[in-house]
Amino acid sequence: MKSIGILGSTGSIGVQTLQVIDTFPGDYKIKYLTANQNVTQLAEQALKYNPDTVCIVQEELKDELESILKNTNISISCGRKALLELAGRNDVELVMNGLVGAAGMEPTVEAVKSGVDVALSNKESMVMAGGIINDLLKTNSCNLFPVDSEHSAIWQCLKGENNCEIKRLILTGSGGPFRTKPKENFSSITLEQALQHPNWDMGNKITIDSATMMNKGLEVIEAYWLFGVTSNQIDIIVHPESIIHSMVEFVDGSVKAQLGVPDMKIPIQYAITYPHHSPAQWESLDLEKMGTLHFEKPDLDKFPCIRLAYEALEKGGSSPIVLNVANDNVVAAFIKGLIPFTQIPTLIEDTINQHDWINDPNLDDISELSGWTSQFIQEQITTYA
Ligand code: MN
Repeated sequence: MKSIGILGSTGSIGVQTLQVIDTFPGDYKIKYLTANQNVTQLAEQALKYNPDTVCIVQEELKDELESILKNTNISISCGRKALLELAGRNDVELVMNGLVGAAGMEPTVEAVKSGVDVALSNKESMVMAGGIINDLLKTNSCNLFPVDSEHSAIWQCLKGENNCEIKRLILTGSGGPFRTKPKENFSSITLEQALQHPNWDMGNKITIDSATMMNKGLEVIEAYWLFGVTSNQIDIIVHPESIIHSMVEFVDGSVKAQLGVPDMKIPIQYAITYPHHSPAQWESLDLEKMGTLHFEKPDLDKFPCIRLAYEALEKGGSSPIVLNVANDNVVAAFIKGLIPFTQIPTLIEDTINQHDWINDPNLDDISELSGWTSQFIQEQITTYA
């Protein structure tokens, strides 16, 4: 039985991870579950999976969780510090990091420091601290298993291959809900429209990132750290059907692609069952029914977030950190109705331009830069409002 800890068990990735685990009765032991604020769902999961520990990050919700779980032996913790302690537990074989945004980075670091393998859905970890995490993976001899569908695809295409024979990585993206919308209509985009993703069912933050295409930009940076290529070896192609999840072109012109129905349970399951492909119960890909697959160049004029991400990656140092934290903050502001959709890239670019760039940030620098970035964005939003 393989022991697993799940960070963010009530979020989209956490819930789907448990759905995958349900299809392998007796194969996995859930050691811990964590949630930010969804007490009811966390308690339901705890009663069903009987983990050693559950953690609710919002401390004021601990009493409620305790009262629901009072007749169990499950230990209950709360707060950010407890979350980091759980992430660093070395009595689990795999941590599923399904946390959203910059808050997911430190837990990845804690798990890797303890020598535990991480199934990584939180791309922000690599965007903010890819170099640090790669060094820790070497020192502590453990692995990262990508859960992001594009990176899972590339990882699968590279199985048995030599990374030095890669010519380029081709990340596919659906193009989001505004792929065909004229740029002049972007100023009237509503939250409801931005939350309608054509293919993937995901949490709110990543759905907005898909609408701005910052998601693809963050994935370029994630791929850079995961696969050790240069930024000009990573291309993006828009593929509206989301059937090809990404491709690798090798130096001899041979191209490998990974295909499947757009269902996150496939990359989640592969990260959990790696190095095996295990039987699954979801629908098969029906290419005859699909008929035609389409491809087009991403429109960098309509989606400046892609350009910002490439620029941040090329500049390096603190730039990707500020890009990421600024994005977290402006997306949250857009979801709250504080800024229009078109202000998302503008505010991120201003923030990157205004920050004091440093070359080789350590974890303390990252924390300081994150604080500065959040505060700068809050001030900008107050000025606009
Ligand atoms: Mn993805």
